[in-house]
Amino acid sequence: MKEYTYKFEMHSHTNWCSACGNSSPEEMAAAYWDAGYAGMVITDHFLSGNSAVDRSLPWEDKMRAYWRAYEAAKAWAQGKGFTVLFGVEHLYGNGKEVLTYGIGLDFLLAHPDLHKYSLKDYCAAVHEAGGFLSHAHPFRRAAYIKDGVEPQNEDMDAVEVFNFYNEDEENRLAVELAREAGKLTTSGGDEHIQDGDAIGKAGVVFAECPKDNKRLVELLRAGDYMLNVKGRVVPRNG
Ligand SMILES: [Zn+2]
Ligand SMILES: [Zn+2]
Repeated sequence: MKEYTYKFEMHSHTNWCSACGNSSPEEMAAAYWDAGYAGMVITDHFLSGNSAVDRSLPWEDKMRAYWRAYEAAKAWAQGKGFTVLFGVEHLYGNGKEVLTYGIGLDFLLAHPDLHKYSLKDYCAAVHEAGGFLSHAHPFRRAAYIKDGVEPQNEDMDAVEVFNFYNEDEENRLAVELAREAGKLTTSGGDEHIQDGDAIGKAGVVFAECPKDNKRLVELLRAGDYMLNVKGRVVPRNG
C-alpha cells in the first residue's frame, strides 16, 4: 500500500507578484520547508486579479516578473530537497478565480494577453499545453466577489474543495460542486504570509514528490493523492 507523506502546497502567494502578498518568494519557501512540506506551487494573482506586477510593462517583461518570483523561491530551495513549482491564479470574471498548474514561461510568452482570453479559450490553451485547472474557492463570499454568480467550472479539471481561509460552509458547497460535476478535488492554504496559519494545514499529499510540472499534472490527473484538510490527511473524495 502506498504511503501518502509528501505534503505539497497548491495555493500560495508572494509579495513580488501579488498585491495582497506579505512575504517574499524565499520567505514563503522557507516557511513551507520548515513546516515539513515536500514542495509548493506558487500561484500569484495573474494580471486581471490582485497582481503586483506593473501592468504598463510589455508582455514579455510582465511574464518574466512572474517567473522571477518562482525562480527566487526555487533558488532558495536548491539543495534542500524542497520542490518549488510555477503556477498562477487567474481571475476569469466576477471575482472568481482558477488555479492554473503545469504551465511555464514559454507558455506565457506564447500567449500574449492571456488574461483577456474568454474562460473557454483560457482553459483550452492551458490544456493544450498539458496544464491542469482547479477552480479556486468557488463559493467564497467576499467584498471583491460578485454575489450570486455560479462558478463556471465546466472546462476545469478540479475544484478546490478545501481552502484554509474559507468558511466551512463555503468549502462544503465546493465539495458538493466537485461531486455533482464529477471533478477531481484540491486543497490549498491560499497563504499570503510566511507565518500564516494555513501553513501545515492545507495542500495535497502525494506518495512521491513531483519534481516538475509534468509529474505534478500526471499525479493530479491520475487522482493519485490525498488532501490535507486542517492538518489531517484525508481521501480526496472524502
Ligand atoms: Zn490574494
Ligand atoms: Zn489565492
